Amino acid sequence: MWLRTSLILTLFLTLGACMKEETQKPEYTLVIHGGAGTITRDKLTPEKEAEIRGELNAALAAGEAILKDGGTALDAITAAIQVMENSPNFNAGRGAVFTAEGKNELDSSIMDGRTLDAGAVSGVKNIKNPILLARAVMEKSPHVMMMGTGAEKFAATQGIETADDAYFHTDYRWGQYEDAKTKKNGPLLDHDGKAEEEAPKGAMNDDPLNGDYKFGTVGAVALDKQGSLAAGTSTGGMTYKMHGRVGDSPIIGAGTYANNKSCAVSATGHGEFFIRATVARNVCALMEYSGKSLQQAADRIVMQELVEMGGDGGIIAVDKDGNYAMPFNTAGMFRGHVTSLEAAKVGIYKD
Ligand code: ASP
Repeated sequence: MWLRTSLILTLFLTLGACMKEETQKPEYTLVIHGGAGTITRDKLTPEKEAEIRGELNAALAAGEAILKDGGTALDAITAAIQVMENSPNFNAGRGAVFTAEGKNELDSSIMDGRTLDAGAVSGVKNIKNPILLARAVMEKSPHVMMMGTGAEKFAATQGIETADDAYFHTDYRWGQYEDAKTKKNGPLLDHDGKAEEEAPKGAMNDDPLNGDYKFGTVGAVALDKQGSLAAGTSTGGMTYKMHGRVGDSPIIGAGTYANNKSCAVSATGHGEFFIRATVARNVCALMEYSGKSLQQAADRIVMQELVEMGGDGGIIAVDKDGNYAMPFNTAGMFRGHVTSLEAAKVGIYKD
């Protein structure tokens, strides 16, 4: 009798604990990416991998400090993206790739899920942190998207920091540019793996002339303690892109989207496909209109729609309950996440 009672009691307690766990939602969630592509173990030396993991962790820490403190998702994603823009290892801000004319043309966008306010810039030069300019467009201009010299002039009125060409010049990216020029095989995406078979070990680090291992558009999405969502993306685009080419990253609804009703998304991949698949908005719309979970919606767009079209890449996404998803249809994606319930974790490869 005693045994039976205690068995029943244990069963109830266990069930209770399980249910509690299941319904426990994180107070905040932050997810980041540093680009998707042909990122396999043989392409990164242990030193380079450790460096990149360290920078992803630093980006998570910068954003989490804000969320933990009760700050906004918007501030958290801005801080996280700035850390990655300041690193030469990502194709955004400092480590941006070069156009066919040997210049850096930067694209960025940001969206506030509370108000559906959004800001974006495309083809801007010498802007140290394009995410800050996108945010200024959202908060300080009557517009959503500004381009080129007009956006740069606006930046000057907003005290947005600039940097000279030398700041953006990394040997690695210049090597990719030279390589693309020599091969004359047109624009190269960060996630291209055209010469994968020929790649020597550590190609990404040791051989700047190997233009086929480029990764690094950056992005962040977050849910804050107030239940608000935000998303942001920043990129140099694709190596050897035509002057004036714009990818998905600064396009609201393609590379970036946030809506408190559903989710926040930042994308990385072959922009020409992501624009036509309206990737970021589609994931949130699937949740909103058809009741799919975040994971189902994200998988449907990235692993099905994009694959059918031939578009490589991935996304990071968080929903209004703090669930997150990070699907990618490439070999790898630099990524990381942290929630009020889970310690920071970064990943690179599929496994
Ligand atoms: N989506 C970016 C673009 O097409 C590139 C990338 O994410 O690697 O400009």
